[in-house]
Amino acid sequence: MSEPTKLTREQLLPLAVAAERRNIAFTDGQCTLLPPLPDCPICGQPSTALRVQPDYSFQFDLVRFAIKPCGHSFTADGEDVFESYNHARQIVASGDTPNSKENEA
Ligand SMILES: [Zn+2]
Repeated sequence: MSEPTKLTREQLLPLAVAAERRNIAFTDGQCTLLPPLPDCPICGQPSTALRVQPDYSFQFDLVRFAIKPCGHSFTADGEDVFESYNHARQIVASGDTPNSKENEA
């Protein structure tokens, strides 16, 4: 297994927005119509699941997560995750897209 790739705040944002949209859809009971996750930032394959490994953050102040089905894994600073998620919530609340040129699905 290769070393996880460190993501920047900019790279985290589309993932955070997708996670937030899915949270909202799930809460609204639209479980069969979950918004899609973004493609893997490394290989560009569509991702079907994002698995977070939370204990990683206790040791290193890093969040580690993996994308399925390609299996690439990533780390991000806890602070960057927190800021991205805050930003994502604002974006979703205002109905914008994080990157209007590529996220008009
Ligand atoms: Zn990948």
